[in-house]
Amino acid sequence: MSHLVRYSRYLSRFKTPHFPSSQHSTFPFSTTTEDYNKPSRPDPPPIRVALTESAGRGVFSTRKIGAGDLIHTAKPILAHPSLSTINTVCYFCLKNLTSTEFHGKGVAFCSQECKENAKVFYEVETTADWLAFDDYCRNKGLKYPLLVKRLACMVISGAASAESLDILQPSNLSHEMVLEMEEGYGLLKSGFAMANISDELMAFLTKEWYNSVLARIRINAFRIELAVGSYEDLLSSAAACIEAEAAVGNAVYVLPSLYNHDCDPNAHIVWIDNADAQLKALCDVEEDEELRICYIDASMDHDARQSFLLQGFGFKCNCLRCLSGD
Ligand SMILES: [Zn+2]
Ligand SMILES: [Zn+2]
Repeated sequence: MSHLVRYSRYLSRFKTPHFPSSQHSTFPFSTTTEDYNKPSRPDPPPIRVALTESAGRGVFSTRKIGAGDLIHTAKPILAHPSLSTINTVCYFCLKNLTSTEFHGKGVAFCSQECKENAKVFYEVETTADWLAFDDYCRNKGLKYPLLVKRLACMVISGAASAESLDILQPSNLSHEMVLEMEEGYGLLKSGFAMANISDELMAFLTKEWYNSVLARIRINAFRIELAVGSYEDLLSSAAACIEAEAAVGNAVYVLPSLYNHDCDPNAHIVWIDNADAQLKALCDVEEDEELRICYIDASMDHDARQSFLLQGFGFKCNCLRCLSGD
């Protein structure tokens, strides 16, 4: 199981999922905990994004936040189930499916709403045959090219801009990694070409675009593990853990990606039953304090953490816990 993805062992809950439309390429830094028909708008989240002294951008509190408080919610820009969970979770929001699924072609949605929302990628996706592309991902154990494919479908359908992820920090790609990506790029491009998507609509789909999107997804994607809601869920998830990876999929967000890392974090990201993220305070936070999450499994020892952070995210951690040698 890879630790080279943003990691969380906790989980949280979803409301009205939707992707941003291309006309408004702002992202849902959403605080959607209220219905529109309620008289008052929700308060803005108690955070601001500002430069830190050493780690570039970071997220800071604008007031005291209590331990356990919800700081804000965030909807994914992109989410995709793991190939191993594709038949057991919603193809749009990654919620575990019950008996009331709404079927698409070979996949299922948890609700009519998700089926509607999925049109931004699904209508384009289903015009092509992705067998070779999916086999490539499955055989090589790759999950991020699936997110690139989904974004490409959204761009072709006009639902997202090709520059959607440019706001995120890219990882450095080695020459070997770039060579490895060529096959995925070729399969993605030929999938669309065989589906007769026009050259004009595919103009954005260059090797540079593919690599740049993958470089961003590589260090910004979160591995989603859903919260266990009941005793029955606990039993079935215990069984599922033995059989397969616990993650239901992977997703990319904007605001949660701006949180810096700490091995002893004061905030964490959780998912209750789908890909909607909740950022919560782990302890009392003072006004103007930087909010940080842990990108990796915090239970690892000092050397393992340093090694994963360097390999996966390209930095040496100088948090207080690491400096203390713990
Ligand atoms: Zn759904
Ligand atoms: Zn550290």
